[in-house]
Order: sequence, then C-alpha cells, then structure tokens
Amino acid sequence: MTDLAVFNPATAELIASVPALGVVETDVAIARAHAAFPAWRAVAPADRARLLRRFADAVDADLENLARIEVANAGHTIGNARWEAGNVRDVLHYFAGVPERLSGRQIPVAGGVDITFAEPLGVVGVIVPWNFPMPIAAWGFAPALAAGNTVVLKPAELTPLTALRLAELARQAGIPAEVFQVLPGEGPVVGERFVTHPLVRKIVFTGSTRVGKRIMAGCADQVKRLTLELGGNNANIVFADADLAKAAATAPYAVFDNAGQDCCARSRVLVEHSVYEEFLGLFEQAVRRVVVGDPADEATEMGPLISADHLAHVQSYVDNAPVACRGTAPDGPGFWFPPTVLGPIPADHPAVAEEVFGPVVAVLPFTDEADAVRQANATEYGLACSLWTRDVGRALRVARAVEAGNLSVNSHASVRYSTPFGGVKQSGLGRELGPDAVAAFTETKNVFLDTQE
Ligand code: NAD
Repeated sequence: MTDLAVFNPATAELIASVPALGVVETDVAIARAHAAFPAWRAVAPADRARLLRRFADAVDADLENLARIEVANAGHTIGNARWEAGNVRDVLHYFAGVPERLSGRQIPVAGGVDITFAEPLGVVGVIVPWNFPMPIAAWGFAPALAAGNTVVLKPAELTPLTALRLAELARQAGIPAEVFQVLPGEGPVVGERFVTHPLVRKIVFTGSTRVGKRIMAGCADQVKRLTLELGGNNANIVFADADLAKAAATAPYAVFDNAGQDCCARSRVLVEHSVYEEFLGLFEQAVRRVVVGDPADEATEMGPLISADHLAHVQSYVDNAPVACRGTAPDGPGFWFPPTVLGPIPADHPAVAEEVFGPVVAVLPFTDEADAVRQANATEYGLACSLWTRDVGRALRVARAVEAGNLSVNSHASVRYSTPFGGVKQSGLGRELGPDAVAAFTETKNVFLDTQE
C-alpha cells in the first residue's frame, strides 16, 4: 500500500501521510457496503432521519476542528472553511427530512390499484475533487444515505483529511461504519473500481470534464446511474444600466474566492461597451484591495493554490497573455498566485476560452444584449452565470437565453442547499441539492394490485 502525501499549500510543508487503498481493499469495502444495504434500507424512516440529524449535530460540534483541518489541507480561508463545514451540517439536516417524505404515488388505473415506490439503489460511489472537499462530499453522501443507500466515498488524493474526519463523526452519531465508508486512494485505482464494480449501482462524480467523460463511458458498460458535476467557464455580464459600483466591487470575489479554484468562478467579465472603461477602473481598484495571505488569518480573503503542479498549470496560461493589472501575494514557500486581470485579450485566447481554475480573470466588452448572450454561450461549458442590470425584463430574457444551470441576477450566489445545482452542455449531467436531488438516488418501482373478484 502506498501513501498519499498531504501538504499544506500555504507553506508547502508535508502535514500528513494517508494510506492509499488498492483494488483489493476497495473490493472489500464495496462488499461490506453491499452487505450493509438491506439493514440500512430497513431502518425505520424516523430513525434514519434521527441518525442523519445526529450526524449533522456531530459536524456542528466539530465545526471549528473541521474548518482548521481544511485550512491546513486545502489552504481555504478560515471564513470559507467554516462556511463549508456549516454547509455539510445544513445539507445533512436538509436531507434528514427525506426518509419520512419519500413517498410514492397512487395512480388511477382500471381493475385494481397502482402504486409506486422510491426504492434505494444499493451501494453509491461518490468521487470528490480537491477544490471543495467537504461540501461536495456531503452533496453526494447526504441524499444517498437519506434515501436508504450505503455509500463508499473517495476523496481527492490531495485533500483526504476532512472526509476521513466526517466518517468518524458519522460513526460517533451511530451510523454503522459499513454504511458510510471513506476510501482514500488514487482516482485510476479506487475511483475507477467504483465504476467497474458491478455492486456499485450509481456514481456521483465531481471533477474535471476529461475524467468525467471517461467515467461516463465506463458507466455505460453496466448502464450504471451517474451524476456528473464537471468544469465551468462562467460569464459575469454587466449591462450599462447596472449598479456599476456594486458590480465592480463584487466581481473580484466572484472569481478569486477559493483562489479561483471554483467551477462557478466568473472568470469572464462581459461589460457593455459604453461603460467598459468606467467599470474596468472600478474593478481594478477592487482587485488591488483583495487581501491575499495566511488562510488562517481572519482578515484573509484569498489563500494559495492547491499544489505546485496546479500553480505551474495556472502560470502557463498567464505566461502568454497580456496582464492588465495584478493584486498581491506572499513571497516564499507555498503555492501563491496573485489575483490577475488579463487584457486586452481576444475571447479565443486559451486563458479566456479554457477553464483556468485559478485567480485569473478577463474583462471583455460586448455591444448589445444579443452579443452578451452569444459571448456568454461561446463555450463548451454551461455551469453558472451572473448578470447585472436594473431592467427586470432583460434580466429574465438573458437568464433564459444563457445556457447554464445556475443564474444569478445582481448577485453571484450559485449554491444553496435548498435549490438545484448543476450544469448543462459539458458542465455535467443531473442536479444536486434542492427538493428533487433525492430522485437521483432512487429508482421508481411500479406495483399493480388486481382487485377484481
Ligand atoms: P479530477 O477530475 O482530476 O479529479 C476528481 C476526482 O476524480 C478525484 O478524486 C480523482 O482522484 C478522481 N479520478 C481521477 N481519475 C479517475 C478515474 N480514472 N476514475 C475514477 N476517478 C478518477 O478533478 P480535480 O482536479 O480534482 O478537480 C477540479 C475539477 O473539478 C475542475 O474541472 C472543476 O471545474 C471541477 N469541479 C466541478 C464542480 C461542479 O459542481 N460542476 C465542482 C467542483 C469542481
């Protein structure tokens, strides 16, 4: 068994070594999850709800510890990391409402009674990326468990620590160890085994579009259920009639939050040409004010990138691009990259056309509403989009015309546990969170009872 080396991205220091599981250990875990499934699905709905609420309470009691682990392992700012742990708690509470509401339907038919059941699927495999290790794990495991499935979860190689802690908290709350297992390891080993193992009945994958396509192809072999949350290249559209001061003051945080390592990062700011210069001036001032530094410091707004490799990847985009302005970043050890505004730059430059996944943003002019929509949609992705205008009609027209799963008007909020989240085009398949998420963790069974004499 090899080890996963876990680094603190703010200091480049090794902070932990986590055994990476192989295929044999993965198969054992899947067999345990499969064996635990009949008992877990048979837990009375109110009892399963109670266990999930206890799990939520255990997360809440451990919130500061979980947040500190994430600051050290992922370089997230302490404020963000607390929000992320709180999101796990809230997602668990939200889906704790599911077991007692997972009702089927009674459908009028001739000659009898027809009823449907929302049956759990069995073992669900959740594969998680490194950029939001806690929330993305919970968006998969909470509805899966609530619907009566057992879960095997593979955290990203770089960020296994909070997931391992969440598994301990689940056990403390009384959820059997076999019902929710966290399996650290490499994607092509543990993750791939989830895809090929016939007893894993569904995959929830969040990560790159490249790996997502491979997983989708693998799932086809067994017609395995699949949810995909993939990359993004998201627009932030600013119309001339918008509250420009507010649009400019918020735009840096919509892309530099989590150092731009966010599938919803608004990395293409599209500005109506008549206010382009005015917006750019305000935006550049706001970018220079972003506080980059020690993620454990309460005042910090942006931390480091996740790894040396990722730093080199982000740098490669900027090497060949014109830089309009930059914020600051600490010198010395750690994987630091300053907030960077590109421009003037053509829309087909790789730093604009591809998902950079770092603190890099381009500001591009547009001529009119149709041009704004055309530019926003000129990408293979379709995850999120913000638009700023005071014209309600236009807000709705553009929101309907942009090909993305998550739109925000005069706001950058994309994620709420009570509303659906997911992408169109190559940003993904299916929706997480919100009132309908649990449908992706159940199969509808139809039963007809003949009542004729
Ligand atoms: P990645 O695709 O490299 O890895 C994601 C996960 O898949 C990791 O756990 C990895 O070990 C595993 N994996 C790798 N190869 C595998 C294989 N062959 N079989 C099974 N599993 C495998 O992505 P990443 O670099 O960790 O994350 C960044 C990407 O995630 C970005 O593209 C980002 O946009 C995307 N993302 C999307 C969302 C969303 O909700 N749409 C959210 C967060 C991140």
